[in-house]
Amino acid sequence: MTACVFDDLVGQERVAEFLRGTVESESVSHAYLFVGPSGSGKRSAALRLACALVCDDGGCGVCSACTRVKRGAHPDVRVFEPTGAASYLVEQMRDEIVPDVWLAPAEARAKVYVIERADALGESAANAFLKTLEEPPPTVTFVLLAEDFDAVLPTIVSRCQVVHFVTIPPSRAVALLAERTGAGVEEAGAALAASAGVLPRALEFLRSPSRREARERTLQALRDLPTMDGLDVLVSARDLLRSVRAPLDELKERQEAELKDRLEFMGKASGSLKELEARNRREITARERESIGELLSVIESWLRDVLAVLAGAPAQIVNRDAADDVAAAAGAMDLARTIRALGAVAQARRRVSYNVSPQLALEAMLFEILEVRTCPQSWE
Ligand SMILES: [Zn+2]
Repeated sequence: MTACVFDDLVGQERVAEFLRGTVESESVSHAYLFVGPSGSGKRSAALRLACALVCDDGGCGVCSACTRVKRGAHPDVRVFEPTGAASYLVEQMRDEIVPDVWLAPAEARAKVYVIERADALGESAANAFLKTLEEPPPTVTFVLLAEDFDAVLPTIVSRCQVVHFVTIPPSRAVALLAERTGAGVEEAGAALAASAGVLPRALEFLRSPSRREARERTLQALRDLPTMDGLDVLVSARDLLRSVRAPLDELKERQEAELKDRLEFMGKASGSLKELEARNRREITARERESIGELLSVIESWLRDVLAVLAGAPAQIVNRDAADDVAAAAGAMDLARTIRALGAVAQARRRVSYNVSPQLALEAMLFEILEVRTCPQSWE
């Protein structure tokens, strides 16, 4: 038993030590509640625990089972998010999760259920799930995740072992990223900003050429914006969307391969095939939103850099590689206008989350930033 998979749990050494200990001493609980702020690596830790439980070598991190868990493609490790707008639905717990728990593992000796946003489990959804959470089959481990401990129902908390994740200060996160990937401190800072401070996402970002390319294009669009006309803005929004969608192609390929495997294995007339297709669609939508969120985070951090220059603190600039453009923008904008531009980004984020077409949301945002940047007699 090696449990190497926990070595990579950046910034959460105590959690890593605790989880490694429970796996190595074979004292794994039937249910955990991981609590900590966004970006503290809860999901990443849950998947690593899953690796340790389904891998024949106790979580080597590199075998086929471990790799598939990390990619979200292992049949015995399932991750759930609320299907309701704001919470888990009773139907999701009762018809989808609970019956699945009682099926034997497909290939490993254990099954792991990661339940995201356990704070979105309302009374009735929780009631449909409590008995199973309390006494699952011996092969099953639940890992519930939540940002806000106080928002999780006491009936859920009392059935789980609670593991607290610490907040990682940005300066430490940057140092950790640089150490892990060999990136420079500036590059690591930019990656963290593009990932909205979420450390594991920033780690992936630094390792993903297509996501770094998408950031480059976003910075380029901000550079070119002052000279754009209306048509240019529309084209720019379209191109930006195209570049953030590029990393999804790999995911689609993976899903198609998985679907093909399933088809060979169980034939066409399978209900679970439909379920898999539905899951794939949800995964693409979620990842697409994440990618657009990343694009907006880049623009947001760039505008915050403009604010830093305007406030006389240029040393705080995060996007060092765009320092000249930031300085130029600071020369053309003032505090109030920059804040209005930041408001346009926040508005775009809201629109995307309300299912407005991302193209329309981006267009509106770029037009507004263009206006506050170039219009001399603006609203002030
Ligand atoms: Zn392994």
